Amino acid sequence: MSAKSSIRWFSEIIGVAYRYYDLRMNVIPLFRDRKEATKIWNEVVNWWSDSSIKIRFVETEDSNWFIMGSDSMRPDTNMSFFKILPKSKHYERFKKGHGGEAYLRLGTYTKKYKNDVKDDAICDCSHMKEDHDDSEDNDECLYEDCDCKKFESFQLNLYPRKKKKIVTDIKFFQESDVKEDPLTWNCLYVHKYKSQEK
Ligand SMILES: [Zn+2]
Ligand SMILES: [Zn+2]
Repeated sequence: MSAKSSIRWFSEIIGVAYRYYDLRMNVIPLFRDRKEATKIWNEVVNWWSDSSIKIRFVETEDSNWFIMGSDSMRPDTNMSFFKILPKSKHYERFKKGHGGEAYLRLGTYTKKYKNDVKDDAICDCSHMKEDHDDSEDNDECLYEDCDCKKFESFQLNLYPRKKKKIVTDIKFFQESDVKEDPLTWNCLYVHKYKSQEK
């Protein structure tokens, strides 16, 4: 077997969040729950040295692939990660603003609704709860130019809370370029092209 087939891929990431207000931008793969995020950190990411971590993005016609992997001091439990994501403005903002490096953290997210939060909580539409209709059956945002109909707030939790890695090997590819990069090529080969060959 070639080295290609020796990569173990973890595909159960549920999304990728970005955070912008630290010294570096944050890339935060999201997992089902705290237990899973903590386990992945302890068994996999913790054993990566910063300089060997690779984060790749591949832009296809209708989606973005997120791909992440690294050499590990514990090869027996090592894994690489990928997730096919819808195009998003957060991704575009990260691509423009990361400046060649990012913090890698792991996390989970929860949705909070109107009755779960205080008046100054921020809705996904960027307006506060108190700017939304406060009647029982209507959450509509009262800003004239906002078409938000329901208060929803995305709450990010980081696990393990204070752990992070610094990633400096971040690359963006178009699908036609993926053969240039072994990790990226392996991912698309295994999860896209191989099944099309049959
Ligand atoms: Zn809103
Ligand atoms: Zn709004």
